[in-house]
Amino acid sequence: MAISSAFLPFNGELRGISIAYGSSDGRWDDKRETESMNKPRQEGEQRAEGCPHCARIRQVELGNLENLVHQTRRAIVVAGDHQFFPGYCLVISKKHIREMHQISEEEALGLFADVLTVGRVIDENYHPLKMNYVSLGNVDEHLHWHVIPRYLSDPDCRDHPWKNSAVFSKSPTTGEIVENLRSMFSKS
Ligand SMILES: [Zn+2]
Repeated sequence: MAISSAFLPFNGELRGISIAYGSSDGRWDDKRETESMNKPRQEGEQRAEGCPHCARIRQVELGNLENLVHQTRRAIVVAGDHQFFPGYCLVISKKHIREMHQISEEEALGLFADVLTVGRVIDENYHPLKMNYVSLGNVDEHLHWHVIPRYLSDPDCRDHPWKNSAVFSKSPTTGEIVENLRSMFSKS
């Protein structure tokens, strides 16, 4: 088992904590897929063993998730692991939900309202050229959205947001940025 903390959604989705899984290069791993280590053990269970997002929710419950900037009844909002796109955040469901269509319409609308609020707050404070809302879950099968502001200064602002992932780590998420995001959301 290799430790990965890669940033790519296609070969190692962005995460705030390193987890152990399948292959050393972080690519999709058939064995891991077969094991479905992120599936809840029982139908309806809200947490799944080995899921990094469930681990984050547990940290929030314990009051020690460093990058937490906001939370609602249904979701937590964390600062992205990098700030290559200033203001970049993730919205993570508090429940371990694998697919969007598996939840009730009421729950889906509530979560989506949270995502829209996050996008609006980032837009009003950072004034990006465009907002990107990305929900994949190919690696971490727990419903979440990447809310990514795109800027003219981004060398590939018309392309997908992971094009420059090789240099994401050069724009780390500092404590000051997290505090600024918290302040923004506290006024929302
Ligand atoms: Zn989970």
